[in-house]
Amino acid sequence: MSDNVLKVSGLKVAYGGIKAVKGIDLEVNKGELIALIGANGAGKTTTLKAITGTLPPCKVEGTITYQGESLKGSKSFHLVEKKLAMVPEGRGVFTRMSIQENLMMGAYTRNDKAGIEADIAKWFDVFPRLKERAQQLAGTLSGGEQQMLAMARALMSHPQLLLLDEPSMGLSPIMVEKIFEVIRNVSKEGITVLLVEQNAKLALQAAHRGYVMDSGNITMTGNAKDMLDDPRVKAAYLGE
Ligand code: ATP
Repeated sequence: MSDNVLKVSGLKVAYGGIKAVKGIDLEVNKGELIALIGANGAGKTTTLKAITGTLPPCKVEGTITYQGESLKGSKSFHLVEKKLAMVPEGRGVFTRMSIQENLMMGAYTRNDKAGIEADIAKWFDVFPRLKERAQQLAGTLSGGEQQMLAMARALMSHPQLLLLDEPSMGLSPIMVEKIFEVIRNVSKEGITVLLVEQNAKLALQAAHRGYVMDSGNITMTGNAKDMLDDPRVKAAYLGE
């Protein structure tokens, strides 16, 4: 049996005349933390949107298999039931709900009340800022606090695969460190992670394997540690 949790083959996405993704292959195996890095406009977010079914199917070609099943035609709200959670760029928290309510929403497919309460307590321990603001509306949180909430909400669903789009964007260095600590811990707990990041160094330091995306193509892939030492990656993405 294959170890693939996610397999993307020949994925193409076009927005009208713009070919954003030009036929990429990508695999994420069980328990792996995979970094997908690349410059602005490389097609990373578009790839995640294709996986999560947030693009009109007519724009998408190729196959996307999750746990051996095609994801074609799946609506994003079905994904949580399939144990696939996404933290989108721009966070996507429910702005008019409190922090506590956002976390409860993350667990809407679960009915183990005690487990849900224990998980909320756990996330409040990890992110004390959220605990202090439990009843505050999520829309009034800072960018970094919303990022913490979005991550915790996604994890409340107990996903098998977590997709993260630019979790470090707009965060202070301390917040970035905190978010990456959570990502590494989540991975150690056995959750499979596909991490899209512009901060190539941090992403490759945390990941098992990496993919470089450039102008809609995957231009390099390999062991993350080897990629950190690769002169082409160093020059183009690590500013060295
Ligand atoms: P960033 O790191 O800046 O978010 P990215 O690698 O995630 O970049 P995408 O957001 O996937 O890149 O964009 C890939 C290309 O597709 C870009 O040229 C972008 O302008 C284009 N694009 C993205 N969304 C749309 C859209 N809705 N309509 C038209 N073009 C789009």
